[in-house]
Amino acid sequence: MERDGAVALDLTDPLAPAREAFRIPDGVLPLNGNSLGALQPAVEDRVRRVVTDEWGIGLKRSWNDAGWASLPQQVAARIAPLIGADRAEVAVADSTSVDLFKAVVAARRLRPDRRVILTDDRNFPSDRYVVAGVAELLADTEVVVVAPDEVEGRLTDDVAVLTMTHVDYRSGRLQDAARLTAAAHDAGAVAVWDLSHSTGAVHVDLADWHADLAVGCTYKYLSGGPGAPAYLFAAARHHDELRSPIAGWFGHAAPFAFGDAYAPGAGADRFLAGTPPILSLAALDAALEVWEDVEIGEVPHKSRALTSLFVALVDERLGDLGVRVASPRVAEQRGAQVSLAFDDAGPLGRAATEAGVLADVRPPDILRFGFAPLYVRYRDVWDAVDVLHRLLSDRAWEDPRFSEPEHVS
Ligand SMILES: *Cc1c(COP(=O)(O)O)cnc(C)c1O
Repeated sequence: MERDGAVALDLTDPLAPAREAFRIPDGVLPLNGNSLGALQPAVEDRVRRVVTDEWGIGLKRSWNDAGWASLPQQVAARIAPLIGADRAEVAVADSTSVDLFKAVVAARRLRPDRRVILTDDRNFPSDRYVVAGVAELLADTEVVVVAPDEVEGRLTDDVAVLTMTHVDYRSGRLQDAARLTAAAHDAGAVAVWDLSHSTGAVHVDLADWHADLAVGCTYKYLSGGPGAPAYLFAAARHHDELRSPIAGWFGHAAPFAFGDAYAPGAGADRFLAGTPPILSLAALDAALEVWEDVEIGEVPHKSRALTSLFVALVDERLGDLGVRVASPRVAEQRGAQVSLAFDDAGPLGRAATEAGVLADVRPPDILRFGFAPLYVRYRDVWDAVDVLHRLLSDRAWEDPRFSEPEHVS
């Protein structure tokens, strides 16, 4: 395909108007929406207003007058329709790692007679550290780690919890969450999903999956800003039984009664713990407004179309230059991400960043490209491959200034 073909696809893209809400710097192709989503000017305005007016002038009155006290619930109401949940099933708080800790402990306690927490060896390292920490903390608990395609076979009657990430952070491989949840249930286990690379990128329907618990990140495809609060989903059918291991006052049924004893709050709100981070929540709340006008069914469609175009162009133009597609080739089996394997991935990634193509490096040899469906255009995909073609043809990665490792990517 020539560049004109990609431009033509942009003209008929039903999600094209959403890009207007974002500010993408000139000369930048932001293909790391799976790492840190792009900023919307509306978020900047909102944060400025919260700081200057609500905090600066309103001071403590803003807990009521500016709606700070109900901001976690307001943000939960915006996330719920994106994941196929009811508002009361979603709590917005803390980081994904902390929420996963709360979810896995709570899930483990739903199955007190079973000792195994099952996860897979491709799961995100933080998730695996958290799970190992849970097993250290709880009596009679053991973590079993298997390859992703061995999970179903290991779902025996000692498994209390299955926890996996829906879209693999390295390869972009998409798990069949509905099928694995059903398999967990057939074995008598509870499933906890990490949706960090899913929400806002691929089809997520927790109601349809009969999901038990889930967590996810909001600073990737939801563009909530660096370190934006995460969310925890707990299915309504479990609410009466679920307890958060962090019984903080904001998860209490009546935080401002200052009673002596803890009583869990309603629904997923019991997973709130401490005072909500109002500045971050306000940024996230403003960032999520753009989804009100998005036909959510278009999102997985565009993710597949963008990633398919990228794969086709990489095959066509970069195949002879030492680059290999390291993500599933069947569009339905991957998230909004394509990983490329290249021996000198680090230097090539830094050369690409300098040329305006923002992608992540995942050691030892992976370059990861995320295609945020709300603001990445088909022409950006074409242009990114064109830049990579030039860098590879010129052997740009061999320049010594690209040999220094990055601190964060
Ligand atoms: C990004 C990501 C997280 C983020 O965890 P934090 O605790 O919010 O930093 C967690 N899990 C997965 C799978 C991720 O990709």
